[in-house]
Amino acid sequence: MRIMDRPGLYVHVPFCARKCPYCDFFSVSALELTPVYLKALAQEAARAAAFWRTPFDTLYIGGGSPSLLSRGDLKALKAALSPLELTPDAETTLEVNPEDADPDKMAFWADWGVTRLSLGAQTFDARFLAGSLGRTHLPADSFAAMEAAAAAGLSLSLDLIYGHAGQNPEDWAADLDKASASWAEHISAYALTPAPGTPLARALAERLVPRLLGEAASAELFALTAEALKIRGFERYEVSNFARGGAVCRHNLKYWRRTPYLGLGPSAHSFDGTRRWADEASVRRWAAALDRQDEPRSFVEEVTPEQARLEAIMLGLRLSEGFSASLLKPSQALEDFCAQGYLELEDELIKPTEKGLAVADFLARQLA
Ligand code: SF4
Repeated sequence: MRIMDRPGLYVHVPFCARKCPYCDFFSVSALELTPVYLKALAQEAARAAAFWRTPFDTLYIGGGSPSLLSRGDLKALKAALSPLELTPDAETTLEVNPEDADPDKMAFWADWGVTRLSLGAQTFDARFLAGSLGRTHLPADSFAAMEAAAAAGLSLSLDLIYGHAGQNPEDWAADLDKASASWAEHISAYALTPAPGTPLARALAERLVPRLLGEAASAELFALTAEALKIRGFERYEVSNFARGGAVCRHNLKYWRRTPYLGLGPSAHSFDGTRRWADEASVRRWAAALDRQDEPRSFVEEVTPEQARLEAIMLGLRLSEGFSASLLKPSQALEDFCAQGYLELEDELIKPTEKGLAVADFLARQLA
């Protein structure tokens, strides 16, 4: 078994101080439910321990806003997870909102076992933070959090979002410059996409807010990203993810490589290699099911071998490492994409080039 084949553990912390208008992750602001959540998390981890016996080599605590949890809550969270075994060198990521971070908390998190922070900086431009994103933190909060992470010796990943109304290439280049000049060794850069049903999507539909960047302008910023980050040593290893010094996110690679992972907490997803399921997206329903000793599932799906093959192709087209050529039958489309410089065939692997990564979803539709 390759070390990367060990399963990953995800814990969803479903609390946020307030809902950001563009966000469609499950979270609530009812922090008074924290004790209910922690009790149910312990029950879910104890149930899962009977089936998940291979030690996990990654733990990703996401949300929601895990950085809202108090020291006592985080200690209880660790106790809740104790039936599940982690390898001694497990990559342990905590998602952090800039406004929640300070040097004391940072030192506590490092002591707790966190090795890596995923900081939701989003942009260093106050206009866009307060505008399309509706965030409450300021660029200064992100800079302070980045400095505190460096002082605590924590590996740092930055989440950035582009495509804001009125954003031009110079604005985005300035964000990338600040991010790549920092302590961060990992950057995730996503286009702002209003998910259906979010307040931002509704406001855009009703023309209450300025339109976001169109497809062509957004594609220009996407193309600029890899170039700007390369100058400071970042390599793109997934369509939207860049690392320097080999600091890839081991946990997220499991999703893209279809390595099994266990998700705990309301709305968390899991995959055991042949089955995929999601937990109830409600703290109360999820906790009540666990209290009744029921599975707190909202759906379960058996993945057929053909589905598995298609998923491996679609996900593999998003990774610079590519995927096994044995998954695809020879075809004219495959030959054409290789000849046109979208794909390369190397050591029995099909690898998307930079040009191919820019249109990974299109290639997947044509080839899968
Ligand atoms: S974007 Fe982050 S902080 Fe905002 S509501 Fe979503 S999970 Fe919470």
